[in-house]
Amino acid sequence: MTLLGIHVLGSPILRQETEIVTAVTDDVRQLIDDMFETMYMARGIGLAAPQVGRRERVTVVDVDREGGRHHPIALINPTIVLREGSARGEEGCLSIPEIYGDVERATRVVVQATDREGQPFEVDGTDLLARCLQHEVDHLHGKLFIDYLGIFKRRAALAKWEEEKVKYPTQVRLVTAEGGTVSAGRAERDG
Ligand code: ZN
Repeated sequence: MTLLGIHVLGSPILRQETEIVTAVTDDVRQLIDDMFETMYMARGIGLAAPQVGRRERVTVVDVDREGGRHHPIALINPTIVLREGSARGEEGCLSIPEIYGDVERATRVVVQATDREGQPFEVDGTDLLARCLQHEVDHLHGKLFIDYLGIFKRRAALAKWEEEKVKYPTQVRLVTAEGGTVSAGRAERDG
């Protein structure tokens, strides 16, 4: 497996629409494996293909890692078919390190997708999983959590990012084996 570079805010691919995966090939499975490895190393709970510079409509999530337990879910061509409830909660993003903001999301979503064997499946997620799935599906359509912030909070977040972004002159963030670029604590909820 390979650790992938994570594109940060300013990299154009984060704002581009992804392409539907028409065949689940070994190449796609390799991408999924590499995305999981990169996400775990970065201590995130979700990662979408555009964040690693790829155009495939693919995302991986794992919000359930208490005590070292893993519950990885890889979603190819995911579509949200049901949204229920609403709650505000803090979000971060592996592509916008150190920036956080409250976002209103559905508290339950049902997502239809294709799995790594090419089979259709459904995820019924609540709370943090629901939030994470919405955040990642947004990524697949060029949308970022900061887009939901009110004008003042968004302006403050972007002002802080102006200072942060100098750490990433190539607009790609390299995650180290020590999790070196990631601050502990809040990073656990970045997607
Ligand atoms: Zn994100």
